[in-house]
Amino acid sequence: MIKAKYLTKITDINKLYLEQIINEGDIVVDATMGNGYDTKYLAEKVGESGFVYSFDIQEEAIKSTRKKLEKENLQERVKLILDGHENIDNYIEKKISCVVFNLGYLPRAQHMIITKPNTTIKAIEHSLKLLKPHGVVSISIYTGHPGGLDEKNSVYDFVKNLDQREFNVLECGFVNQVNNPPQLVLIEKKKEY
Ligand code: SAH
Repeated sequence: MIKAKYLTKITDINKLYLEQIINEGDIVVDATMGNGYDTKYLAEKVGESGFVYSFDIQEEAIKSTRKKLEKENLQERVKLILDGHENIDNYIEKKISCVVFNLGYLPRAQHMIITKPNTTIKAIEHSLKLLKPHGVVSISIYTGHPGGLDEKNSVYDFVKNLDQREFNVLECGFVNQVNNPPQLVLIEKKKEY
C-alpha cells in the first residue's frame, strides 16, 4: 500500500527506484556526498562485495561522511574523494550500475558552495559513458536557490537531447506544490553502442 509519506520527499521517491536498480556486489557512485546520507545508503545496498565511490569538493563533507560510515563499519567498501564529480573518469574505469546526483547546496553548510551547470553536465556525460547497460543516473534537482533554475534548465536541455535509442529518460515532480518543488530525473542506459 502506498502511504502519503512516500510521496513527500524527492530523495525518498528516488529510493523507490534505486531499490529496484541497485544489487549486492554493484559498483555505484555518489556524485554529491554532502553529509553522506546517500553514500551510507548506497554502501548498505551494495553489500560487502560491492563498492561506492563518493565525491565532494568540501573537506567537511568527507569528514562527516567518514564518521557516519565508521559508525556502521562501512568504510572499507567506500572511497571518499575530495574532488569535483566532473573528474569522475580520472577515478573510475570499471563499469558502474548507478550514479546518484543530489544537486544544489548542502543544507546547514555554506550555501555559496553549489553545484554548477557546466560541471554538473560534464559529470553526467562522463557518468553515462561509465554506466553498464541498464545502469541508471539519478539526478535530484532543486530550483529554490540562486542559480538553481539555470542548472535545472541546463540539465533538461542536456537530457532532452539524449537519443531515445540509447537512453530512457524519466522525470518525476510534484505537480501541486508551491515554492519551487524539487524534481527527479532518471536516465537509464539501454545498451552499449
Ligand atoms: N547527498 C547529500 C546532499 C548533497 S548537497 C546528502 O545526502 O547529504 C550537494 C553537495 O555537492 C555539496 O556538499 C557540495 O559541496 C557538493 N558539490 C558542489 N559542487 C561539486 C562538484 N563539482 N563535485 C562534487 N561535489 C560537488
